[in-house]
Amino acid sequence: MSDRYGELVQSPLGRKVAKNLGLPMPTRLDRYQAGQPVLRGEVAFGTSYQDSAPSQAVLEILQNLDAKITTLDTLAARLADDSARFKVAIFDASSITDTDGLRLVYEFFHQIARRIKPSGRIIIIARPEADTGSDVGFALAQRAVLGFAKSIAKEFKKGISANVLYVQTGAEPHLDHALRFFMSAKSAYVSGQPIYLTKGATLQTDAQLDDKKPLQGKKILVTGASRGIGEAVAGVLARDGALVYCLDVPANLSDLQKVAGNLGGQALPLDITAPDAAEQIAKACGVLDGVVHNAGVTRDKTLANMSEAQWDLVMNINLKAIADLNAYFIAENVLADSARIVCVSSISGIAGNVGQANYAMSKAGVIGLVQATAKLFDGSNRTINAVAPGFIETKMTGAIPFAIREAGRRMNSMSQGGEPVDVAETISWLLAPNASGLNGNVVRVCGQSILGA
Ligand code: NAD
Repeated sequence: MSDRYGELVQSPLGRKVAKNLGLPMPTRLDRYQAGQPVLRGEVAFGTSYQDSAPSQAVLEILQNLDAKITTLDTLAARLADDSARFKVAIFDASSITDTDGLRLVYEFFHQIARRIKPSGRIIIIARPEADTGSDVGFALAQRAVLGFAKSIAKEFKKGISANVLYVQTGAEPHLDHALRFFMSAKSAYVSGQPIYLTKGATLQTDAQLDDKKPLQGKKILVTGASRGIGEAVAGVLARDGALVYCLDVPANLSDLQKVAGNLGGQALPLDITAPDAAEQIAKACGVLDGVVHNAGVTRDKTLANMSEAQWDLVMNINLKAIADLNAYFIAENVLADSARIVCVSSISGIAGNVGQANYAMSKAGVIGLVQATAKLFDGSNRTINAVAPGFIETKMTGAIPFAIREAGRRMNSMSQGGEPVDVAETISWLLAPNASGLNGNVVRVCGQSILGA
């Protein structure tokens, strides 16, 4: 789907009209181009305690990336140059243990608030609730930074995102994989989110893999791959080196074959609700390194008008099929020891939506499924996570009546819909071998939609 208004405000005249009328002014977001470096400009780095384990890890990561870094020691001098601008600003708040300490967050970001480049990245590092325990001062400070991040994500505009990485003590080695994603253009439409890094399994590969083909040699199944988000996911996974099994209903065979053919993958025409779907997948794919449960449908009606067929179809495709496939894959060893599963939920499953009691229920169920399975995988090399897209420009959202579509598209901090590739980049990041510290997350790819925020 094209966003005509979004294109119009890119012109000087469109911009002027929109500004005078107080209309939303979406910025064209930077998106990843093959071969692009992780860092696209200068980095400002602040910390509440420079010897903390997260700060040491961040500095090492930035040095490995040859970053141009401004630290607290050099910030005042750098800001004296009016032209100084930062593409990334990172603050390690993990050592703040009371309200007074939170002032450091204000001081750092207040100084640089007008110096962040378009499509810039704000990343705050904090400790999760499990680490703060019953220490009230520590807990309030670590939770407080999320409110701060969510607010500046709304304020800064210009496609700038702000997210909090909650790093469990001892999970610092996983910061590399997380920072590479959040500093890069790949995270264009992820904003206002808490992300939880746990110690997880040991990292299997050297970090450099992330820059090249992190999914080389991996066999990954993508359901609903003939179009929309699934097609984009298949494309990004193939770009990152995976052999992709593209599954969709037999009625979409010709589109499916085109998608699979273009990326050297395999087409798998199959309905995931078929009683023998799991066996058929196992027969066609063998042992899988990754599964992306993306296939999904809507049948929107208010509950009073919703037929049993509309209810059953949505629940069976969006939720039951995923639970059944996972149960079979786990029981029958269809998953490799270090397999990664990503389920596509929706912000509708977080916020609820008029006319979507069936859809929102199925997508909320997906989150429950992911969180319980994550516990099952805890201590193993396997992981499972959910992505919850907001308004993404696809056939599904193209079918929404114009006025509602336009409202849905603008109700977020980026004032625009996301692209399927934004969801795909997030999924590829979660599927990578180095993503072993990410288990049980629900990553919203929604430009900080106000729905369910
Ligand atoms: P889409 O309708 O363009 O594509 C969905 C694909 O799933 C289709 O190709 C369809 O044939 C396939 N599919 C449906 N039922 C199937 C079945 N029984 N077996 C196998 N394949 C089946 O939708 P999309 O917008 O690309 O959405 C993809 C996923 O993202 C869905 O789970 C959707 O709920 C979710 N999502 C989308 C948005 C959005 O804004 N587009 C927002 C939130 C969540």
